Amino acid sequence: MDCLFCKIAAGEIPSKKVYEDDQVYAFYDINPIAPVHFLVIPKQHISGAAAVTAENSAVVAHIFEVIAKLADEMKLTDGFRVITNNGDDAGQSVKHLHFHVIAGRKFGWDGDNAG
Ligand code: AMP
Ligand code: ZN
Repeated sequence: MDCLFCKIAAGEIPSKKVYEDDQVYAFYDINPIAPVHFLVIPKQHISGAAAVTAENSAVVAHIFEVIAKLADEMKLTDGFRVITNNGDDAGQSVKHLHFHVIAGRKFGWDGDNAG
Protein backbone atom coordinates (compact mmCIF):
# COMPACT_ATOMS: atom_id res chain seq x y z
CA MET A 1 0.00 0.00 0.00
CA ASP A 2 1.24 3.46 -0.88
CA CYS A 3 1.02 5.05 2.56
CA LEU A 4 3.59 7.54 3.88
CA PHE A 5 3.18 6.57 7.55
CA CYS A 6 3.27 2.81 6.81
CA LYS A 7 6.64 3.49 5.13
CA ILE A 8 7.86 5.59 8.06
CA ALA A 9 6.82 2.88 10.55
CA ALA A 10 8.66 0.28 8.45
CA GLY A 11 11.82 2.45 8.31
CA GLU A 12 11.57 2.81 4.53
CA ILE A 13 11.34 6.60 4.83
CA PRO A 14 13.59 8.28 7.42
CA SER A 15 12.13 9.98 10.48
CA LYS A 16 13.33 11.26 13.84
CA LYS A 17 12.25 8.44 16.14
CA VAL A 18 10.86 9.16 19.61
CA TYR A 19 9.74 5.63 20.55
CA GLU A 20 9.04 2.25 19.00
CA ASP A 21 7.64 -1.11 20.08
CA ASP A 22 5.98 -4.01 18.27
CA GLN A 23 2.66 -2.14 17.90
CA VAL A 24 3.43 1.56 17.64
CA TYR A 25 5.92 4.06 16.28
CA ALA A 26 6.41 7.66 17.44
CA PHE A 27 8.40 10.34 15.59
CA TYR A 28 8.83 14.11 15.48
CA ASP A 29 6.53 16.05 13.17
CA ILE A 30 8.43 17.50 10.21
CA ASN A 31 6.50 20.79 10.54
CA PRO A 32 6.16 21.42 14.30
CA ILE A 33 3.53 23.86 15.57
CA ALA A 34 4.94 23.95 19.12
CA PRO A 35 8.33 23.40 20.83
CA VAL A 36 7.36 19.73 21.35
CA HIS A 37 5.41 18.11 18.51
CA PHE A 38 5.54 14.41 17.73
CA LEU A 39 3.18 11.87 16.19
CA VAL A 40 2.23 8.44 17.52
CA ILE A 41 0.95 5.90 14.99
CA PRO A 42 -0.05 2.24 14.95
CA LYS A 43 2.32 0.12 12.84
CA GLN A 44 -0.77 -1.54 11.42
CA HIS A 45 -2.51 0.56 8.76
CA ILE A 46 -5.73 2.15 10.07
CA SER A 47 -6.95 4.97 7.83
CA GLY A 48 -8.12 7.27 10.64
CA ALA A 49 -10.28 7.62 13.74
CA ALA A 50 -13.38 6.71 11.72
CA ALA A 51 -11.85 3.31 10.94
CA VAL A 52 -11.35 2.29 14.59
CA THR A 53 -13.36 -0.87 15.34
CA ALA A 54 -13.78 -3.45 18.10
CA GLU A 55 -11.16 -5.53 16.27
CA ASN A 56 -8.39 -2.90 16.10
CA SER A 57 -9.10 -0.56 19.04
CA ALA A 58 -6.63 -2.23 21.45
CA VAL A 59 -3.78 -0.42 19.73
CA VAL A 60 -5.50 2.92 20.41
CA ALA A 61 -5.50 2.16 24.14
CA HIS A 62 -1.84 1.16 23.85
CA ILE A 63 -1.05 4.44 22.06
CA PHE A 64 -2.47 6.38 25.00
CA GLU A 65 -0.34 4.33 27.43
CA VAL A 66 2.71 5.20 25.34
CA ILE A 67 1.76 8.89 25.26
CA ALA A 68 1.46 8.96 29.07
CA LYS A 69 4.86 7.27 29.44
CA LEU A 70 6.55 9.63 26.97
CA ALA A 71 4.92 12.70 28.56
CA ASP A 72 6.35 11.56 31.90
CA GLU A 73 9.82 10.90 30.47
CA MET A 74 9.82 14.24 28.61
CA LYS A 75 8.58 15.98 31.78
CA LEU A 76 5.62 17.61 30.05
CA THR A 77 4.29 18.54 33.48
CA ASP A 78 2.86 21.90 32.35
CA GLY A 79 0.49 20.09 30.03
CA PHE A 80 0.21 18.67 26.55
CA ARG A 81 -2.44 18.24 23.90
CA VAL A 82 -3.34 15.05 21.98
CA ILE A 83 -5.08 15.54 18.64
CA THR A 84 -6.25 13.33 15.82
CA ASN A 85 -7.72 14.80 12.63
CA ASN A 86 -10.17 12.68 10.65
CA GLY A 87 -11.29 13.54 7.13
CA ASP A 88 -10.92 16.54 4.88
CA ASP A 89 -12.80 19.15 6.94
CA ALA A 90 -10.54 18.32 9.90
CA GLY A 91 -7.44 18.72 7.72
CA GLN A 92 -6.31 15.09 7.77
CA SER A 93 -3.47 15.15 5.25
CA VAL A 94 -2.13 11.61 5.84
CA LYS A 95 -4.72 8.84 5.74
CA HIS A 96 -3.06 6.69 8.42
CA LEU A 97 -4.27 7.12 12.01
CA HIS A 98 -1.93 9.41 13.93
CA PHE A 99 -2.08 11.26 17.23
CA HIS A 100 -0.33 14.61 17.44
CA VAL A 101 1.25 15.26 20.84
CA ILE A 102 2.00 18.95 21.23
CA ALA A 103 3.45 20.85 24.19
CA GLY A 104 5.80 23.58 25.24
CA ARG A 105 3.50 26.54 24.84
CA LYS A 106 0.03 27.54 25.96
CA PHE A 107 -2.96 26.67 23.77
CA GLY A 108 -6.42 28.10 23.87
CA TRP A 109 -9.27 26.10 22.49
CA ASP A 110 -9.03 26.99 18.81
CA GLY A 111 -10.35 24.49 16.33
CA ASP A 112 -8.28 26.16 13.60
CA ASN A 113 -5.05 25.61 15.47
CA ALA A 114 -5.40 22.02 16.48
CA GLY A 115 -2.68 20.12 14.71
P1 AMP B 1 -2.63 15.77 9.70
O1 AMP B 1 -2.63 17.09 8.98
O2 AMP B 1 -3.41 15.75 10.98
O3 AMP B 1 -2.97 14.63 8.78
O4 AMP B 1 -1.14 15.55 10.18
C1 AMP B 1 -0.13 15.09 9.35
C2 AMP B 1 1.17 15.57 9.96
O5 AMP B 1 2.21 14.80 9.40
C3 AMP B 1 1.49 17.04 9.67
O6 AMP B 1 1.61 17.74 10.91
C4 AMP B 1 2.81 16.98 8.91
O7 AMP B 1 3.68 18.02 9.26
C5 AMP B 1 3.35 15.62 9.30
N1 AMP B 1 4.23 15.00 8.33
C6 AMP B 1 4.03 14.85 6.99
N2 AMP B 1 5.07 14.18 6.43
C7 AMP B 1 5.94 13.91 7.43
C8 AMP B 1 7.20 13.25 7.49
N3 AMP B 1 7.80 12.72 6.40
N4 AMP B 1 7.82 13.16 8.70
C9 AMP B 1 7.25 13.68 9.81
N5 AMP B 1 6.06 14.30 9.82
C10 AMP B 1 5.41 14.42 8.65
ZN1 ZN C 1 -0.57 3.36 6.47
